[in-house]
Amino acid sequence: MNLIFLGPPGSGKGTQSKRLQKTFGLIQLSTGDMLRAAVAEGTDVGKQAKQIMESGKLVPDDVIIKMIADRIESPDCQKGFILDGFPRTIAQAEALDKMLSAGKKQINAVVELQVNDNEMVERISSRFTCVKCGAGYNKVLNPPAKEGVCDECGSADFSFRSDDKAETVAARLKAYHEQTSPLLPYYKDKRVLYSVDGMAEIDTVTHNINALLKSVENS
Ligand code: AMP
Repeated sequence: MNLIFLGPPGSGKGTQSKRLQKTFGLIQLSTGDMLRAAVAEGTDVGKQAKQIMESGKLVPDDVIIKMIADRIESPDCQKGFILDGFPRTIAQAEALDKMLSAGKKQINAVVELQVNDNEMVERISSRFTCVKCGAGYNKVLNPPAKEGVCDECGSADFSFRSDDKAETVAARLKAYHEQTSPLLPYYKDKRVLYSVDGMAEIDTVTHNINALLKSVENS
């Protein structure tokens, strides 16, 4: 099964994809994580992307399309993948369609996480990640069971994203509405779009997505 998560920054795409990859045996492909790794490694892509990411704008389509095309070909993606943060423009969606049809693959479901924009800034400013294993937390909605200790790996080393500042989040929300939301009618026309209430409690959202995908799998 191949899936796409759609939704504005803070809607829970990363959190829910991480949970789903365990349940359905899929690989999470986050273009944001790939770009942050490229920035940390100082690669050419990382150098090109750093300032754009910090401004909250989108990295050029050609850079992103090449990055994801290389990744989708890998053996670990052959059983299925979850695209988290890609596509973000119609040009990216069209490029994805071409890549998939060349490999005789398809997108089985696009899951839209519906949220209220005005609550996203607060949600995003409360989130942090375990440096060692990448587990994501939120001070308010999803804190570690023991304060200051990662539930997954026991590390006490956490980081905040530099583009999670309020002013950058506003630019990221704008980019979502202007450039990414046209993907909703694009996938609705292809009859693969499913919408889920992303404002519900995290476990409820997971439960609803699991139920939805089980019915897609059996259809
Ligand atoms: P994310 O972790 O998905 O919130 O992405 C963080 C930042 O990486 C975004 O604000 C963009 O600058 C960049 N980015 C991630 N994915 C894409 C994409 N598919 N297209 C363009 N830019 C992207």
